[in-house]
Amino acid sequence: MPEFNQPLGGNEMPRFAGHASMFRLPTQVGALGLDVALVGVPLDIGTSNRTGSRFGPRQIRSESVMVRPYGMATRAAPFDSFQVGDIGDVPINTFSLEKSIEIIEHFYDEVLAAGAKTVSIGGDHTITLPILRALHKVHGPVALVHVDAHADVNDQMFGESITHGTIFRRAIEEGLVDPAKMTQIGLRATGYAADDFDWAKGRGVQVVTAEQCWYQSLAPLMSAVRERIGTDTPVYLSFDIDGLDPSVAPGTGTPEPGGLTTPQGLEIIRGLWGLNVIGADLVEVSPPYDTTGNTSLLAANLIFETLCSLPGCKRRD
Ligand code: MN
Ligand code: MN
Repeated sequence: MPEFNQPLGGNEMPRFAGHASMFRLPTQVGALGLDVALVGVPLDIGTSNRTGSRFGPRQIRSESVMVRPYGMATRAAPFDSFQVGDIGDVPINTFSLEKSIEIIEHFYDEVLAAGAKTVSIGGDHTITLPILRALHKVHGPVALVHVDAHADVNDQMFGESITHGTIFRRAIEEGLVDPAKMTQIGLRATGYAADDFDWAKGRGVQVVTAEQCWYQSLAPLMSAVRERIGTDTPVYLSFDIDGLDPSVAPGTGTPEPGGLTTPQGLEIIRGLWGLNVIGADLVEVSPPYDTTGNTSLLAANLIFETLCSLPGCKRRD
């Protein structure tokens, strides 16, 4: 059999049994030997409304048992292409957001030093800032595809400069992302000022509102995004589950109606294929508001699709 880690099959151990690792993959401490490390970041003290995303990594792992090793539409075979493992959760300090930010950054410094890419399971969106800080030390400014109902470019919230609603303002100010190669998709609903989305636009960010996505395929948009970013630039994907409509992803802290469809979410991630994707996260799943498990199940599938869009992922003919 292949030299790479393989998910435990549903005929070897019932799907609902065994260790609750992501995709039923082997677990390990640290990222040594991995091409891709799956990392949970169970932080929800940066959120502004409903909490609960601290339980996201555990619940998404639980629902990931339904995800099989091959993508039937893309024919992608991530587990025949990369050594992928679940390295558990970042040991955040749930009493201190400030300390947690530092803990997360140092954790990612070590994973990146071991030579692995990270695909992260949130957690609220605050986790993306320390991840981008760690990535910046290795890659310099990255291109960013950001799926979200919200722009997350507030200057401050309650006087705090780091929250789940301020991270991309900080990321642009700190030079972690190249705004000329940043696209936000799915922004919508209500704001405190009519120009809430314009701060990023003024810095060269491409802002694609949900309304601009309604009733259409996002494949042409992603083709334009690929052209804008170019094939060599390191790209990070930050996927806030609330970018999708609450009818398909209700289990989240700050839901907004009128969002993207599941197929559009898949088109965005599949549309990254061909780019130099160097990492990704899926954030803001709040299991206490996910009474059916569907939001976590969807998140697990989106994370699988992300693996399929990493450069070098083989396609089976
Ligand atoms: Mn967000
Ligand atoms: Mn959001």
